[in-house]
Amino acid sequence: MKHILPAKGALPGILNQLSQIKPYLRSTITSLGDFILPPVCLNCLEPLAASNSLCADCWQNISFISTPYCQITGQPLPYDCGPEALSLSAIAAPPHYDKARSTALYKGTMRSLIHKLKYQDKHELTTLLARWLLTTGHELLPECDMLIPIPLYRWRLWQRRFNQSALLAARLSQLSGKPCNHTILTRPKKTRQQVGLNEKQRKNNLQGAFKIDRHHLPYLEGKTILLIDDVITTGATANAAASALKKAGCNQVYLLSLASVVISPTI
Ligand SMILES: [Zn+2]
Repeated sequence: MKHILPAKGALPGILNQLSQIKPYLRSTITSLGDFILPPVCLNCLEPLAASNSLCADCWQNISFISTPYCQITGQPLPYDCGPEALSLSAIAAPPHYDKARSTALYKGTMRSLIHKLKYQDKHELTTLLARWLLTTGHELLPECDMLIPIPLYRWRLWQRRFNQSALLAARLSQLSGKPCNHTILTRPKKTRQQVGLNEKQRKNNLQGAFKIDRHHLPYLEGKTILLIDDVITTGATANAAASALKKAGCNQVYLLSLASVVISPTI
């Protein structure tokens, strides 16, 4: 069979023409997709003009965290004490992570979206949520060497079939260009919810919760790691993960989450 090949030197021209029509192709495919499946609000399913977004009511029901907030924990502060202000919890019990930032408070639409992702397998939310992480992490991402999602205990992973933090980290990796590693940090121990436990119980609960194999240590030595989680409740779980990474030789550990309840590390 005779193959017809482009003339020598014609290939760059063809590639250039393809790159020029790529935006039009993408636009046409998006329009066709919107015709077949009209865009709706990702939270309440109200019809919308554009896909991957929320209606006005759902937007207004998100409590985005803005300044003033604690420079370490990222928790909102009641009043502005300057750009270096710290919360009382960060002063009383400095966490192992160096900085934490959350997009919003864990309530309203943000709580609803996270529940849909975690418990109703609504993976189509990942792009919108990862874009919010990209915005929230604008000061942390340029400094970090690697994204690492907070891992799930294997039985929990088997039950849920996916790790929502790993989904978010993978999409954020695509958006930011930062590498993501899902295997360096593991969670070999089953832990209880920290809420309701006293200080000693919390410490025992998270003792040995995270593990890093020795052969991974060269990849972590002197590195800045950005931990990704969906929700920060007490902050103790992320703090235990940060402690494990620091012991493994990391220079800095940052924490980026979609939502925050209250951050008060206790270990
Ligand atoms: Zn809505």
